[in-house]
Amino acid sequence: MPASLAVVADDAATCTRCALATGRTNVVFGTGDSASDLMFIGEGPGAEEDKQGLPFVGRSGKLLDQLLLEEMGLTRDRVYIANVVKCRPPNNRDPLPAEIEACRPFLETQLELIAPKVVVTLGKFAGQLLLRSKEGITRLRGRSYPFATGVLVPTVHPAYVLRGGGEPMAQMRADLVRAKQALADAGSPLVTTPTGTDR
Ligand code: URA
Repeated sequence: MPASLAVVADDAATCTRCALATGRTNVVFGTGDSASDLMFIGEGPGAEEDKQGLPFVGRSGKLLDQLLLEEMGLTRDRVYIANVVKCRPPNNRDPLPAEIEACRPFLETQLELIAPKVVVTLGKFAGQLLLRSKEGITRLRGRSYPFATGVLVPTVHPAYVLRGGGEPMAQMRADLVRAKQALADAGSPLVTTPTGTDR
């Protein structure tokens, strides 16, 4: 982690900017390769994430790992993963606007320092926040958007895929393929082209 990101993570570790601070076990700042071209942004930690201090380590995370590997050929250590809010909302309720707003500077700094070529938002909250939109995720997804240092690809939340089965699963897979294409278009080494084909 670059020194500057570590400083922000230290700052977040003692944050009391919103009421979520009182119920947390751990601040879940983010994990993975901070030099990666690809960053995933979820909603907020669940019970397992709060316990371990790491994002997407519960059931949703297992699905994310699986689809990341199957559709993009990547393991989680090759990408950076963070959330809109860094502390667990009680009983996994939706994060409140004031909590999202209080936590936003941490995410903005992460985006600035990591400067990913492709950002994949997982679910409504991350998609709406970064696209400054009030549209539902089913309307937002299905295309990519120009974003800061590259391209943003909104997709559904893996928890929704776990509940919803076939169609959301197909949507998330298609969106990850879209993200892979965006990485290829940006010339990212995360996308390896077959060698020896001399075309
Ligand atoms: N859901 C999220 O949005 N983020 C996590 O880290 C885990 C589950």
